[in-house]
Amino acid sequence: MKTSVRNKQKYNVVVIGAGHAGCEAAMACAKMGLSTLLITLNIDFIAKMSCNPSIGGIAKGQIVREIDAMGGVMGLVTDYSGLQFKMLNHSKGHAVWSPRAQCDKSLYSLLMSKLLQGQDNLNLLQSEVKRILVKNDKVYGVKLLTGEKIESDSVIVTTGTFLKGVIYTGKYHFNGGRFNEKSSLYLSQSLANDCGLLLNRFKTTTTPRVNALSINYSKLQKQLGDTFPSPFSHFTNIKRWQQNLYQLPCWITYTNYKTHKLVKENIHLSSINIGKVNSKSPRYCPSIEEKIERYTDKEQHRIFIEPEGYYTNEIYLNGLYTGLPFNLQQKMINSIIGLEKAIVIRYGYAIEYDYVDPTQLNRTLETKTIQGLFLGGQINGTTGYEEAAAQGFIAGVNAGLRILGKDSLILTRDNSYIGVLIDDITTKGIDEPYRMFTSRVECRLSIRNDNADLRLMDIGHSINLISDKMYNKFKLYKNTLKRLYNNFNINNLSKKCVVLPWSLDKVKEEFKIYKKYEGYIKIQNDMLQKLKKNESRKIPINFDYNKVSSLSYETKQRLSTIKPTTIGQAARIKAITPSDIAILNIYLEKYKKSLICKK
Ligand SMILES: Cc1cc2nc3c(=O)[nH]c(=O)nc-3n(C[C@H](O)[C@H](O)[C@H](O)COP(=O)(O)OP(=O)(O)OC[C@H]3O[C@@H](n4cnc5c(N)ncnc54)[C@H](O)[C@@H]3O)c2cc1C
Repeated sequence: MKTSVRNKQKYNVVVIGAGHAGCEAAMACAKMGLSTLLITLNIDFIAKMSCNPSIGGIAKGQIVREIDAMGGVMGLVTDYSGLQFKMLNHSKGHAVWSPRAQCDKSLYSLLMSKLLQGQDNLNLLQSEVKRILVKNDKVYGVKLLTGEKIESDSVIVTTGTFLKGVIYTGKYHFNGGRFNEKSSLYLSQSLANDCGLLLNRFKTTTTPRVNALSINYSKLQKQLGDTFPSPFSHFTNIKRWQQNLYQLPCWITYTNYKTHKLVKENIHLSSINIGKVNSKSPRYCPSIEEKIERYTDKEQHRIFIEPEGYYTNEIYLNGLYTGLPFNLQQKMINSIIGLEKAIVIRYGYAIEYDYVDPTQLNRTLETKTIQGLFLGGQINGTTGYEEAAAQGFIAGVNAGLRILGKDSLILTRDNSYIGVLIDDITTKGIDEPYRMFTSRVECRLSIRNDNADLRLMDIGHSINLISDKMYNKFKLYKNTLKRLYNNFNINNLSKKCVVLPWSLDKVKEEFKIYKKYEGYIKIQNDMLQKLKKNESRKIPINFDYNKVSSLSYETKQRLSTIKPTTIGQAARIKAITPSDIAILNIYLEKYKKSLICKK
């Protein structure tokens, strides 16, 4: 039987919000043995995928593997609700391989709910938190909208897009945290007034959903999952999982001249441009209106057609994020090949919401001003389920470690994507919704999806989120690899060298990757050392950044405008990443050599 906390008025930890961040936070605290209460607006919408029906992808897949290696739950729930699994970037180097799964949205939510409900030390409550209770700069609980107070040693806020959320469709707008869900109207005020935090506004959009039976598939490109898919989680029973997995296809189509003409003629009617939604949206996930306005030379944009589940005909049109009025969305969809007769089930919309400036947080995700108050997920200005889950996990672990009187967990830029994410948002700050990319990670040759366990499972075990049983299997795998690194003959490996979930094939594969990258990783590490030394390295005033092809368009623009005189100065410019600096260093070296040759 579950070790119940019993309904009580004092907990170790209260988590506000059962989105992707809140679920990881609550599970981590409860698994660490702390009495935990998870309060959320609607118990039917636990871990809801507000937007795309998928987990993982470029850089995000690495994050899910890292959460799993430390004992988090997103990977496991994805494995058992996934309907298509694909390793992205498979044709490129291992460093950028990224696992991704299309999921059955409802199943994901149900499985997460069941996991939470069955977890020892964890209670769930459907309610709205109105205030954070603070005394002498220390949190001591929360007050509900209905007036009750619940005391706790720590509070973790993971309220996503709900804080003063306003939904826009064309010129029409109304309050909401997601479509048909109420927004959280009071908590922002408490975070500002009771906790002294600075809040700001961001916005994001989602796509329309159409009926699968109204699509003409004969005109579309089919996208199948991998023939030999790999699960995300070490805790998934791989053999049984592979046997039972039934994968569904996705499809691809494109916008065209007709679509672009319609959008251009009506862009003034979109909530993206009419000035109501003034806040910043994610640059890397733009609405179709923004894409057509920004990339005028592009004649088409790709649309992925993704099923939302096994038992629904709802189809998600990935790439067609929009704030156009409803009637125009229908016309826009019908202008696309294969979707000429598509019938909309849900329209797309834009949402604007409050977030907290994350520079007010320590790297533990505890606020600098209020002891015991932690924030995780979209409330910190990020976007994406995986980014949210990662922060929820770290906030939960650190809230737990503080209560247990143990040292905090701070992941670093050279051991994880999660370390980079948290360092970026808490040290550089953000002026647009932050999402993770491989290009943000300077050590991406050594931080890969395949070695998340080697990097982080020791940590997971030390904080009691990885059991001794699992850890012993991991140690066997790690030791076998070590023997190979020390010149043990790979042909002498026997089945006894590993236990599932680590297989003999996995050992061989990992060793192969190690050998392939060994030299590059040494260069990468030397380069990182040099980067530290090169703080005062000069950049010629007439240096042409447009010639540095590996830099993104935005980076070239920023550098050309500011014209930094040293590498140190360039590194401090907002949104310039350490990997941009590494690229710049290489080009400066080439530039110097070309000048010497000319002489
Ligand atoms: C319209 C829309 C479009 C999006 N588009 C994209 C996209 O294109 N790409 C992308 O990566 N991500 C997108 N997202 C974002 C993605 O959904 C989030 O990044 C992710 O869900 C954030 O997780 P979270 O746990 O921080 O918050 P959420 O998943 O939003 O969960 C917040 C939880 O907090 C609860 N809550 C809020 N206030 C209170 C309160 N006062 N008391 C109790 N409970 C409370 C809510 O009930 C909810 O369960 C979109 C989201 C929306 C709404």
